[in-house]
Amino acid sequence: MKIICIGRNYAEHAKELNNPLPTEPVIFLKPKSALARPGLPIHYPEFTDNLQYECEVVLRISKNGRQIPQKYARQYFDHWTVGIDFTARDLQNRLKEQGLPWEMAKAFDDSAVVGNFVPIDHNTLYSSSFSLSLNHETVQRGHTSDLIFSFEQLVSYISKFFTLQIGDLVFTGTPKGVGPVLPYDVLEGYLNHEKMFQVEMR
Ligand code: MG
Repeated sequence: MKIICIGRNYAEHAKELNNPLPTEPVIFLKPKSALARPGLPIHYPEFTDNLQYECEVVLRISKNGRQIPQKYARQYFDHWTVGIDFTARDLQNRLKEQGLPWEMAKAFDDSAVVGNFVPIDHNTLYSSSFSLSLNHETVQRGHTSDLIFSFEQLVSYISKFFTLQIGDLVFTGTPKGVGPVLPYDVLEGYLNHEKMFQVEMR
């Protein structure tokens, strides 16, 4: 399986990091080894002094496909959850300044947290809210009606470049409110007010 991540898919988040609004989806990948193991704490990496959370809706691919037309894209994902795209922001900024790839800042071990997957009611695709709490205080709130590129647009676009396979995960971008974490912080992710994960930092 692979993890496909979308950057800058909420206008207010692009603004908070001083990034321009994209005209096409921004895509990067994380390897399977980036997946945090459920129930285990996340160790703060030694190569960063600014580890940040990005809470995102995560789709799970349910059907193999490439060159998927947008109008059929909905048939290719059937479960979703929320997760965290952990980012070493200081390292990412250095890499961006130098025009280098982001992987070291985005695809490291434990950088992908995913919650419990639940079946998608497709009628609620664009009327769903999600949030992240840090030490029991809400720090990020998102709504799927605010996506710049819809889930179908993303799946279709990704599949032009990468064959999608059953079990692949798509992180669909974070809303505004990203920020740093510290050892012993507790993060909880909610989708439509249902708790999908809890992770603790070490
Ligand atoms: Mg992200």
